Amino acid sequence: MAQHFLLSAKSRTLSVRHVMEMSHQEAFYVFKALRWGGDENITCPWCGVISNHYFQRTRKTWRCKDCGHTFSVTSGTIFAFHKPPLKVYLAAIAIYANAVRQELKQFAIKGFVLDKKRLENGTYLG
Ligand SMILES: [Zn+2]
Repeated sequence: MAQHFLLSAKSRTLSVRHVMEMSHQEAFYVFKALRWGGDENITCPWCGVISNHYFQRTRKTWRCKDCGHTFSVTSGTIFAFHKPPLKVYLAAIAIYANAVRQELKQFAIKGFVLDKKRLENGTYLG
């Protein structure tokens, strides 16, 4: 089973600069990996069936093997019916994810310092 993209080391290196240097094709595949992981995990937003649906290469859409609906990598998301290129959205995601990651680091550091102070003061409750 393939590892989910968000759990991979590759997702931690998604920088804004790297995203803006991508081609539209690369941005499409990264967006697809972010959403579904691998080809076998593509989920139809209409019926929810997870499968390796029929990929329509020229339109960059899939046709569901179960219900027959056509969907894109952004169908059923806030990015559906997008006008800007996918890499603009990827850059926004990278900015957001990096900001959250930085906040979590700061939160963890503050928590560690607070725990250490509580241990020293004898007020640590676990
Ligand atoms: Zn379907």
